[in-house]
Amino acid sequence: MSDDCIFCSIVDGDIPARTVAETDDVLAFLDANPLARGHTLVIPKAHHEHVGDLPADLSGAVFDVVAELTPRVQAAVDADGANVGINDGAAAGQEVPHVHVHIVPRFEGDGGAP
Ligand code: 5GP
Ligand code: ZN
Repeated sequence: MSDDCIFCSIVDGDIPARTVAETDDVLAFLDANPLARGHTLVIPKAHHEHVGDLPADLSGAVFDVVAELTPRVQAAVDADGANVGINDGAAAGQEVPHVHVHIVPRFEGDGGAP
């Protein structure tokens, strides 16, 4: 838990979010500013800034949810594919310093990767 972290506040229920999936250690919710319909974020509930900071069991738990959820998210919005990825570090576009995996549904002819 980090006091000034938006995603920790979502985990704690202090900031509302549209939950998509939840396990003991992982939360998935809709992105507030979606790049596409169904844009979902998957986070460890514990605060870690970088993907390389995650203990192996936690990165496994996060990926298990990503793998289970990606086809479900695609099906929910009738997408043709998805970009699944992490912006790691400010130079890579990471704005929220709590590691998160983006699942961005993609549609044939939607113009290329975001
Ligand atoms: P980043 O640029 O760090 O990889 O992505 C951060 C993502 O978090 C962005 O897509 C942004 O729209 C999303 N985001 C930022 N603040 C909130 C929030 O309070 N609630 C939700 N659901 N998403 C947020
Ligand atoms: Zn956090």
